[in-house]
Amino acid sequence: MKTKPSTPVVLYWHRTDLRLHDSPALHSALRLNPSIFIPIWTWDPHYVYRARVGPNRWNFLLQCQNDLSASYTKLNPKQKLWVVREAPHTVLPKLWKRWAVTHLVFEKDTDAYARERDETVMELAKEAGVQVIVEMGRNLFDPDEVVKRNGGKPTMSMSQIEKAVGGINSGRPGGVVETPERVPDPWDQERMDLSAVEQEGVDSTGDVNREYRMKEDAQYVKIMGPGEDFGVPTLDEIGIGSAQVSTPHKGGETEALRILEGCIQDEEYVGRFEKPKTSPAAFQPQSTTLLSPHLHFGSLSVRKFWWDVQGVLEDRAKRKKPNASIPTNLPGQLLFRDMYFAAQAAIGHAFSRTYGNKIVRFIDWHLQSTDIATSGKKQPGEKTYTVDSEEAEIWFHRWKEGRTGFPWIDALMRQLKQEGWIHHLGRHSVACFLTRGGCYVSWERGAEVFQEWLIDHEEACNIGNWMWLSCTAFFAQFYRCYSPVAFGKKWDPEGELVRHYVPELAKFDKKYIYEPWKAPIADQKKWGCRVTGDGSQSESDGMKAYPKPMFDFDERRQTCLDSMKHAYDVGLHGDDARVKDGSWREDFEGDENELGNDVEYIS
Ligand SMILES: Cc1cc2nc3c(=O)[nH]c(=O)nc-3n(C[C@H](O)[C@H](O)[C@H](O)COP(=O)(O)OP(=O)(O)OC[C@H]3O[C@@H](n4cnc5c(N)ncnc54)[C@H](O)[C@@H]3O)c2cc1C
Repeated sequence: MKTKPSTPVVLYWHRTDLRLHDSPALHSALRLNPSIFIPIWTWDPHYVYRARVGPNRWNFLLQCQNDLSASYTKLNPKQKLWVVREAPHTVLPKLWKRWAVTHLVFEKDTDAYARERDETVMELAKEAGVQVIVEMGRNLFDPDEVVKRNGGKPTMSMSQIEKAVGGINSGRPGGVVETPERVPDPWDQERMDLSAVEQEGVDSTGDVNREYRMKEDAQYVKIMGPGEDFGVPTLDEIGIGSAQVSTPHKGGETEALRILEGCIQDEEYVGRFEKPKTSPAAFQPQSTTLLSPHLHFGSLSVRKFWWDVQGVLEDRAKRKKPNASIPTNLPGQLLFRDMYFAAQAAIGHAFSRTYGNKIVRFIDWHLQSTDIATSGKKQPGEKTYTVDSEEAEIWFHRWKEGRTGFPWIDALMRQLKQEGWIHHLGRHSVACFLTRGGCYVSWERGAEVFQEWLIDHEEACNIGNWMWLSCTAFFAQFYRCYSPVAFGKKWDPEGELVRHYVPELAKFDKKYIYEPWKAPIADQKKWGCRVTGDGSQSESDGMKAYPKPMFDFDERRQTCLDSMKHAYDVGLHGDDARVKDGSWREDFEGDENELGNDVEYIS
């Protein structure tokens, strides 16, 4: 029987906080003055096999983990990030038994899956007599507290969240806590060794990421990893080839702090930052901070981001220099993030879908999720949606692959696939186009693609913004629509973004760069690209080919508007009985309302 030491043995569980700086949870863990300190990551099969993750986000995660592990080793050569390969609820009880853990400490996570997982873990810890400490640090304000102050309701607008957080420390987040300068030792090598601990079998059936695996993955061959050293997994172990990683954006706390520092140094940028004035066409460098993936993985503290920016704004205000204001300034952007987290926290699992979700308007989209199509019955096979229209299915795939024939949309979708990040207004353009402003395809299909490809994918923000753009929640002005031609032209008259990400059009005159199908054939030939076909061929007549537009945008736009107006008139939400039992169809049979000419393009 191993004896427990007199001072705490602390198991620190990293999840949403791949950093050492400003981590209230880590700070609390170290304040316990542990005799033994073990910072771990549990490589959870749920995220590995059930959440869509493309190679770029895997790579970003591994970079964050390697950076953190190296930072621990710098503080204490005996330390690192100890990665354990098993589901948390099965492995943690084994760890606290083997390592005589007295305290389990982690950062609060209000995502629906995480909440359930943590409740299970806390119950198990209680049974085992392990004390659990949970600290908020992932958001500016605790989402549950925000919901409470919003009358128990999801925060659906900026004014609601501003009012709710106004009552928490006058709308100022908790102060930044210091970065540790040293960390205690883990157990000695013999006690850390888990080779005698039996690993729970992992069920990889229904692996949603299998299309990316070039070979069988080796993530779960041993509980301490294939090298039996608790190492951070490699792309190879995940079954992904390094050539599949195409993003130039780098993960890790070191990189996050470097980017933040660069922004903060530029006080004019911080002071005058107004989101609607930042260009969606800017790349290398982009016009916004690109700190979102770091906020997602917690390689940057959102509170530090807020306080550093606030410091600049207050200093400028003292010197009577002009500052942009909420919600378009940087603190406003961070508050939008909190708004979606609090909305998600109030709704739980149903937040991520239409079916059963009280805040989402029901629209008769094409390619509805299977739960809607089958009235909540078990989904047949692995399909997440039902193909009600072959044409819409083709449009959806052409949108995803960046071959719609609208260069602005295609450039953005290719940038998204290659690099895992596009500007907010670029996201607006492609999301509007897929849903209410072109294809009339369910926002849930778009959200799935973003989940797979974004390096900054954040469930609350992704889902919330897709609802906003599809005018199903948060925003209702469905007659305001992004033109795939005029909007790009306004921001980037020369078409630089298109030339870069759709290189077959690189030589087109700017007059035709957003409407290449209008270019005379002689010019197309001169510029080395024929505008023809549906994008399935990359060449035609011995030269490059770019597709013709997949539909007449103005016509589609009007059809979408008519249908949106009708759906708004019907007025169903995701939790209505008619949505649940399938009788919603009766309200949408052959009905085409005329909207006249009240189309308003956002350009
Ligand atoms: C359809 C769609 C899907 C989106 N999916 C995600 C997602 O999965 N993850 C994600 O972090 N953001 C998402 N966004 C919001 C926004 O586009 C990104 O946060 C932003 O573009 C990130 O770039 P940045 O870090 O340079 O932002 P900046 O403009 O520099 O803003 C600073 C930070 O504020 C936060 N922020 C800014 N705008 C928003 C917003 N509208 N909603 C929530 N937070 C915001 C982000 O954390 C961002 O890093 C989505 C937007 C749309 C329209």
